[in-house]
Order: sequence, then C-alpha cells, then structure tokens
Amino acid sequence: MRVGLTGGIGSGKSTVAGLLREAGAALVDTDAISRGLTLAGGAAMPAIAQAFGADFVAADGALDRDRMRALAFSDAGAKRRLEAILHPLITAQALAEADAATAPMIVFDVPLLVESGRWRSRVARVLVVDCSVETQIARVLQRPGWTMERVQGALAAQTSRQARRAAADAVLLNDGLSLAELATEVRSLAARWGCETIATP
Ligand code: ADP
Repeated sequence: MRVGLTGGIGSGKSTVAGLLREAGAALVDTDAISRGLTLAGGAAMPAIAQAFGADFVAADGALDRDRMRALAFSDAGAKRRLEAILHPLITAQALAEADAATAPMIVFDVPLLVESGRWRSRVARVLVVDCSVETQIARVLQRPGWTMERVQGALAAQTSRQARRAAADAVLLNDGLSLAELATEVRSLAARWGCETIATP
C-alpha cells in the first residue's frame, strides 16, 4: 500500500509520519531527499550550477540555500527553473527508495502533494493531516526563528485546508487531540490500510 502523506505547516504531518513509522510503515521523506540532492556532491548540483551560476554554490559545494530562497521568493521563473531540476530527481529517488522497501505500507511524506499534482497517480491513498489555522500558527510560532509574519507568509504560499481536504482519502483532524490520542488514530489507520492489498495505480 503506497500512501501520500501531506498537511499544512504545523498540522502535525511530521509527527504523524513518525507515528506511521512506529506502526511499521516505511517512510520516504521527500524533503530529506531534496536536501540530499543539494548537498555538496548531490545529484542536482551540476544542473543547478549550470542554470544559476557558481554564485548559488557555497564554498563547500552545496547549494547556497539562503541565496536561492531569496531568489525563488522574488522571482517566480527562477523558482520554476529550480523545481524543474529538483522535482524529477526527487520523484525518481523517492520511487527507488519505495521499490527497495519491504514494509506492507510505504508512506511518501510530501509537503506539497496537493499543490504539485505529481503524486496523486503514484499513491493508492492520500492521507491529510489537518487542523485549524489558529492551531497551525500557535505550533509554528513555538519554533525558533519564526515570527507571525513568517508564519503568515508560509501559510499564504500553501494551498487551503479546503483544497487539501478535498484531495484526501482520509483526514486526520489533529486539533484538540493529545499525542497519545493521535497515536491511537494513526495505529488504527495503519492497521486498516496496511493490511489491504490494493495495487498502486
Ligand atoms: P508539520 O510537520 O505538519 O509542520 P509537526 O509534526 O512538526 O508539524 O508538528 C508541529 C508541532 O506540534 C510539533 O512540535 C509537534 O510535536 C506538535 N504537535 C503536533 N500534533 C500534536 C498534538 N496532537 N498534541 C500536541 N502537540 C502536537
């Protein structure tokens, strides 16, 4: 069973990913793959250096993240060029990791699953972790370095709760739940989905 896991910032997506792993799922973390591709020697670095120039490569050979973030923020075309390099590489590595996994359930952790549209056909189920915007804001403000302005910017750059929920086969509503209650819900879902034998489309 291949599952796409997504959720807005602060929804608890990473927490649910960890709980699914504890429940026996294999986790494919597309953010971690993306970071690995842009470390020194990462598979995306030659194409990035060619497309954006040596200025975007730090002294150690990794992507200069601050510089690239600033460019992508102000220049939509540059953001698209970066994504055109990264996304196919991320997808290829994620699918290779999934093919090598032996767990009954493989969970692809994809923050922008609904926004990108690249994952729907590759997973049998979409699991959305959802909570109110107020809860999202309260959780993210606990993170070091996050201001209200930065949280609002991140929220504005993501799709709406409504669109995410519309794309879901199951929604975990992570509001007013203790971590223990969330864990119980995740285990029950993993048992239901992990035991089914539905072919990936
Ligand atoms: P995301 O990956 O969606 O951005 P996280 O899983 O990192 O969100 O969760 C954000 C923060 O909220 C973390 O500190 C996490 O421990 C906390 N959190 C998430 N769900 C709950 C919950 N049900 N009860 C208490 N804390 C929670």
